[in-house]
Amino acid sequence: MRIARFWLNDEARFGMVDGPELRVLEGNPLIDGIQFAHDRIALKDVALLPPVTPGKIVCIGKNYAEHAAEIGEAVPDEPLMFLKANSSLNRHGGAIVLPPQSTQVDLECELVVVIGATAKNIEPDEVADHIFGFTIANDVTARDLQFEDGQWARSKSFDTFCPLGPWIETDFDWESAQLSSRINGESAQSSYTSEMVFDVPTIVSHVSKNMTLYPGDVILTGSPAGIATIVSGDLVECEIEGIGTLISHVE
Ligand code: MG
Repeated sequence: MRIARFWLNDEARFGMVDGPELRVLEGNPLIDGIQFAHDRIALKDVALLPPVTPGKIVCIGKNYAEHAAEIGEAVPDEPLMFLKANSSLNRHGGAIVLPPQSTQVDLECELVVVIGATAKNIEPDEVADHIFGFTIANDVTARDLQFEDGQWARSKSFDTFCPLGPWIETDFDWESAQLSSRINGESAQSSYTSEMVFDVPTIVSHVSKNMTLYPGDVILTGSPAGIATIVSGDLVECEIEGIGTLISHVE
């Protein structure tokens, strides 16, 4: 099932994607479960929003060996966690705004776990019961500032630096899906989730032992190799097989 969030009559609503239509839902499916309202709306007629409003955006760094190597770093011994500011959230179809402080902004296409049930100190074999679904993020990064600052809060958190969507897929095989990204139609990244250093159960368990995860929280699971710099005017696509394609343009 694909769950999207969108504007309808000046209100943020959720809907189930049903071919070219959205079946509008009552309330928030993460809290209220799946309850259909009576209306349907054409997908092409709405502006999608980030499909969830997370309490926090947890990210995992250097989780693909080839990506760690391309930025000159070693693979960590355990999942390396950092946070992106919630104010960086951006919608499918939105604009990534390049900040004047940076001269090198890169894309990072990543699989995202959407938490469905409160998770504290859970083991890997309990993780599946705490996941609502999966979506796609672009962990946009001001690479020059990431190295200049030595920690990543600023370089990862400029406004618009977290495109998320286009929707949440609740039936998704995270073990071997293809991830790819393109800039103006030209391939940038291409890898598989099977190339992750730490897999989804290991990541979610690890995070839950360090901070409580709540429904709606998201975990970006790391970028494969092939990070590429984006410039004004670019069209950026992040695709994950079985979920869809997250599109942004660069201002
Ligand atoms: Mg990343």
